[in-house]
Amino acid sequence: MKEKIYLASPHMSDEGYEQQYVKEAFDTNWIAPLGPNVTNFEKEICEKISIGHAAALVSGTAAIHMALRACGVGQGDIVLCQSLTFSATANPIIYEKAIPVFIDSDLETWNMSPKHLEEALIKYPNAKAVIVVHLYGLSADMDKIVEICKKYNVTIIEDAAESLGTTYKGRYTGTFGDYGILSFNGNKIITTSGGGMLVSNNQERIEKVRFWSTQARDKARHYQHSELGFNYRMSNIVAGVGRGQLKVLDQRVKKKQYIYNYYKKHLKNISDIEFMPINDWNSPNCWLTSIILKGKVRPLDIIEALEDENIESRPIWKPMHIQPFFEQYDYVGESVGEFLFTYGLCLPSDTKIKDEQLDEIVRIIKGLWDNA
Ligand SMILES: *Cc1c(COP(=O)(O)O)cnc(C)c1O
Repeated sequence: MKEKIYLASPHMSDEGYEQQYVKEAFDTNWIAPLGPNVTNFEKEICEKISIGHAAALVSGTAAIHMALRACGVGQGDIVLCQSLTFSATANPIIYEKAIPVFIDSDLETWNMSPKHLEEALIKYPNAKAVIVVHLYGLSADMDKIVEICKKYNVTIIEDAAESLGTTYKGRYTGTFGDYGILSFNGNKIITTSGGGMLVSNNQERIEKVRFWSTQARDKARHYQHSELGFNYRMSNIVAGVGRGQLKVLDQRVKKKQYIYNYYKKHLKNISDIEFMPINDWNSPNCWLTSIILKGKVRPLDIIEALEDENIESRPIWKPMHIQPFFEQYDYVGESVGEFLFTYGLCLPSDTKIKDEQLDEIVRIIKGLWDNA
């Protein structure tokens, strides 16, 4: 069997930075949650994306959960959530027994439509929070979203799980909302094997999240709890991997952008293929290069043709409002998400990919048009 080409897989630094930090943790016996790698990883992320404070957690999902609690979201509260996303964006709303209302994307950004967001806020003026996502490393139109949320006085949580390294008008995604969340899951642009972070300029709330995520232990000699606790803190080992990976983030972004440009250049003659939208104000990390197909060849045709050669690709996220688990909840939009799901496709965007492999993928895709 030929060597598998992945959609996106973990890619440790050539220099072995990750292992150095992990070794330090072993040498000093900091094998616990907390420790210098955790503190420094938080600090280094804050410096990198220019934000005040960060709490390193076990996953991006945990970070969204903590963000909702930090906003005071509780039972029966309305949370407006981008529909076209991974389920981890929406699940924590249910953990808190709050009520999601799903908002459609637009074709200009593939992310939350400002127009439908405003419609939803008119319908639900008491909404507690908005969760906007930067899919595949493309950024949502944050100026518009922030303006609307200010007008209706609603808190913004930015799900930047897929967009670490992406900038919008020169500023990093994750820093526009009241809270931003990052993920270091295995398929993300940098990974700690599993992990996440909550970022914010609100120091008091970040400190509170650190407290909640280490079992909410009050300051007392005995075990004393006046609030509900969680065991969500990132470990010092995992944070060591993260510190090493952060050193190669810019390199990874460059390679992802190279992959996007490669596909774009070599597939430009196929007029049925439309690439994901990159707006002037957006410098995306190109986490996954995604396309929509407007002719006879369908996403499944490409997925199967690549699969035959041991190459991984996959459809665009299936919107939340048509997921069996979530379809009972309200939705504001005009089915742009369904359109992208039906006609869209994510191409292999692994940063370890070689030019020969990109060539092969391009050849297989072009072959489907030659045979049509
Ligand atoms: C990966 C991802 C998450 C969840 O992050 P985990 O670290 O896997 O919990 C949340 N939202 C989006 C959009 C993601 O892609």
